[in-house]
Amino acid sequence: MQAYRRFDSNHAFAYAVSLAKKQNKELIVYEGLRSDYPWNSERIHRFIIEGMYDNQTRANELGINYWSFVESKSNPARGILKEISKNASAIVTDDFPCFIIPEQTNKLAGKINCALFAVDSNSILPLSRFERAASAARILRIWIHKEFLKGMPERTKSIWKKEDLLGLNHNTKPPKGFGLPEDLNSFLQGLDFKDLVLPAKGVKGGRTEALKVLKSFVSKKLQKYETGRSEPNSPETTATSGLSPYLHFGHIGIEEIFQSVLNAGPGGKWNPERLSHQKPGDREHFYSESSSTNHFLDELITWRDIGYLFFWKDKPYHINLENLPDWVKTNFKKHQSDSREYIYSLEEFESANTHDELWNAAQTELVKTGKMHNYMRMLWGKKVIEWTNTYEEAFSILEHLNNKYAYDGRNPNSYTGILWCFGLFDRPWFPERNVFGNVRFMSSDSTKKKFKMKSYLEYIGELSGTSDSLFP
Ligand SMILES: Cc1cc2nc3c(=O)[nH]c(=O)nc-3n(C[C@H](O)[C@H](O)[C@H](O)COP(=O)(O)OP(=O)(O)OC[C@H]3O[C@@H](n4cnc5c(N)ncnc54)[C@H](O)[C@@H]3O)c2cc1C
Repeated sequence: MQAYRRFDSNHAFAYAVSLAKKQNKELIVYEGLRSDYPWNSERIHRFIIEGMYDNQTRANELGINYWSFVESKSNPARGILKEISKNASAIVTDDFPCFIIPEQTNKLAGKINCALFAVDSNSILPLSRFERAASAARILRIWIHKEFLKGMPERTKSIWKKEDLLGLNHNTKPPKGFGLPEDLNSFLQGLDFKDLVLPAKGVKGGRTEALKVLKSFVSKKLQKYETGRSEPNSPETTATSGLSPYLHFGHIGIEEIFQSVLNAGPGGKWNPERLSHQKPGDREHFYSESSSTNHFLDELITWRDIGYLFFWKDKPYHINLENLPDWVKTNFKKHQSDSREYIYSLEEFESANTHDELWNAAQTELVKTGKMHNYMRMLWGKKVIEWTNTYEEAFSILEHLNNKYAYDGRNPNSYTGILWCFGLFDRPWFPERNVFGNVRFMSSDSTKKKFKMKSYLEYIGELSGTSDSLFP
């Protein structure tokens, strides 16, 4: 388990089960955590380890060999994978297209003497069904709607059942040093992280919590999603789900969310016959009779997938502004020397020390809670472009802050979300503006006119003291 850290609704696990049965072999599930990944922190580490405790419990219930390993100074991870795979007849892993995972998988392939299978559990339709990345959501939406009925039922059928697991566990004990910390607090205190980013109060990782968040979203917010999604507000009040950290670490599967929201909609238990085929690309009507459910699923599928697909073919380890479309690059060449009214350094941005109350509020939310409301994320990104000397500097500040503080950072959508602020997946906008040219511009003043910001700002004000990180 590298990216999709759960047993249930996991295609890589299902494939490993079928392979072990076919070859009459023992199945061992390995979930490891090194401590030297980029932007490592106590915040991210705790979230992942909480997920590992849940996986241990589930493995015990299922009678599955689950070998977990959490690196520490006295228990280094070096050589572990090679060691545990020396007697393997095959290894199955996740084909996640971003961050350090593609490189890690390639390295592993070079070290082992058995077959390595990387399974694409990234979305409801396998990403290989699409020949290329899409340039806009409206294009990908049509592709998805056309393929959906062919791909989706097959995909939901291929998940394992409990009886498939019989006979796969020969009770082989893991090598010394495996297992989870008994006292998580003192374990985390013993690790050296580069940055001080502490866990946010009230945020818990793992599958149990992910299922709770989903249940609460479906019962309390789903039907308000269409009208309430864009309005910035506290996590309790906003109509959005808060599921992205759990999706990112694979504590919950996209198919589980898909089925859960559809089954809760009008008409009771959902089946694929209820898809509307009248007009592929129709965002309002495709999945369900409920427009709010359709809007949510469009974000969950079209908007999430467009980011994953962007990375899929090449799986670039380093991503930068070269990945933007030509019209944006031409635009930036023309406007790179435009004068900027405000210029801030990384430190000023990081400590939420700009002249703009809304921007500072968004940054404070990110630092203190590890989350940022989607609308504020767009405004946050646009303003950094406006307030830095170069587009490249803006990109690197946004990448750093997003990936350092956000629970859902280091994801394909981190990069495509940031690049969206630079014009990716968007169209030219008029009139042409300073610094942005024809790239869409956003302002704090129009955000204040569009939404009632009072309660969001009050929520941010109350955050003082909710996390020990950066601002005490
Ligand atoms: C500058 C910037 C940075 C971003 N960084 C990240 C990031 O690091 N990780 C991340 O997962 N998303 C990122 N996004 C996309 C989006 O903001 C988040 O996915 C969303 O806010 C997560 O909150 P939620 O789970 O409550 O979303 P909901 O509105 O409840 O949506 C449900 C799911 O749909 C997907 N989704 C929703 N909106 C988007 C979107 N605009 N783009 C892609 N997928 C979407 C997410 O998987 C989300 O969990 C970024 C956007 C911007 C503009």
